[in-house]
Amino acid sequence: MSFMHELSAKNVAIIGAGVTGSALLDFFITRGINADLYDEKAPGALREVNSAYDLAVVSPGWRTDHPIIVALETTGCEILSEIDFSWKVKEDIAPDQKWIALTGTNGKTTTIQMVQSIFDYSTKSGIACGNVGEPVISVLASGEKFDYLALELSSFQLQWSKLPRYEAVALLNIAPDHIDWHGSFDQYALAKLRLLDAGSVAIINGQDTESVIRSTSWSGRKIFYNLDTPQAGELGLVENLLVDRAFTSDPSRAVDFAELSDIHPAVPHNVSNAMAAAGLALAIGISHEEIRTGLQNFTLDRHRLEVVLEKEGITWVNDSKATNPHAAAAALLSHISSIWIAGGLAKGAEMGPLIERCALRIKAAILIGQDAPIIATALSKFAPQIPYYIMPFNGDSLELMRDVVTQAQELAKSGDTVLLAPACASMDQFEDYADRGEKFVEMVREVVGR
Ligand code: ADP
Repeated sequence: MSFMHELSAKNVAIIGAGVTGSALLDFFITRGINADLYDEKAPGALREVNSAYDLAVVSPGWRTDHPIIVALETTGCEILSEIDFSWKVKEDIAPDQKWIALTGTNGKTTTIQMVQSIFDYSTKSGIACGNVGEPVISVLASGEKFDYLALELSSFQLQWSKLPRYEAVALLNIAPDHIDWHGSFDQYALAKLRLLDAGSVAIINGQDTESVIRSTSWSGRKIFYNLDTPQAGELGLVENLLVDRAFTSDPSRAVDFAELSDIHPAVPHNVSNAMAAAGLALAIGISHEEIRTGLQNFTLDRHRLEVVLEKEGITWVNDSKATNPHAAAAALLSHISSIWIAGGLAKGAEMGPLIERCALRIKAAILIGQDAPIIATALSKFAPQIPYYIMPFNGDSLELMRDVVTQAQELAKSGDTVLLAPACASMDQFEDYADRGEKFVEMVREVVGR
């Protein structure tokens, strides 16, 4: 009997009432399948398990030891993540459709959006979904036929996922983040590495030591990419050309698929993302020319190295999406001299290595949020020459940003960048990273742009 047929007779619990949970609810209601929604925080959702279910489908971000999930497990109910559930649905209703996926600490959204842009100019039809765009189940439910789904997967999703098989996967980087959630860096890294076991071809960042070392024992086909001249079997950079030495018919030949000037902005980490996107595309047979056009037409999403204003030789940049030290380092290393705005919730990450690596690029630091003292301590220890200013908070986040921008304006001189790349999550003082970025943009325009 088909999965969809079996499903019609099941009693289903949906865990999580966010975007994915609502998409799942729609999916079940439309098919006349009985489904209850669980979420201890959302109004109208159930909080405690008092009924029996055959299947529970879990939204991203839920812990495996959450009381609702433990309660369901003890009744013998089958528990599937939304990704695994979607895979079973796909196997039934779209068996020819193929999936590709990527993960990493930073650059997932950007890279999967690059993949989307490549699909947009390719003869193969594909859509990026999961953490970007629509939930996977919505794409399947829409009935639209895609040759490929391209999934951006977080460590939370990977920890839950065991069923899908990917035509190709990409591992962008592994650096400390979400340590508080996973318990340790090793656990976090292990969750990321699970993606490799779900594929047989992996595009791996050859310049990310953690990715290289931790993938050593994996036995599939590894294609490394880096910002250097590539060896045979790799993707890399030759002068201003991004070249392929992995998927060409003649391995002694390098074929270019973009110039540096095709990548916007052509800062190292973004070129690296373009290599990963190209690697995934090449692995599924997309041509070099289609990749070139896709990359040429790609622009970064908001809150990622977003130039807000250039005035009197000072550039004001919003990289509010830099919610961990690794992303903040990439932003700092993309600019020569920054007034660095940082702080918020460090999520258990250390700040010392970031400061040591980027000290020469930081002219002064303006610190906000709960974990400002952690950054201040690291600055005092590793770069005592860098002045820092801890900003008081009176509960009004827009006023805080006004003070931050005013302070930055006093410190910045022509040639400097004022860089919001906080290395921390934002929820202690802002709704989310987008709210933090918006308020920065608003205040830069108001205070500096007048
Ligand atoms: P994710 O979806 O993994 O959070 P994003 O593309 O949204 O990735 O970028 C998150 C942050 O990481 C941004 O601040 C961005 O500038 C930075 N970033 C993007 N790509 C990389 C990379 N390859 N290495 C380090 N930082 C990156």
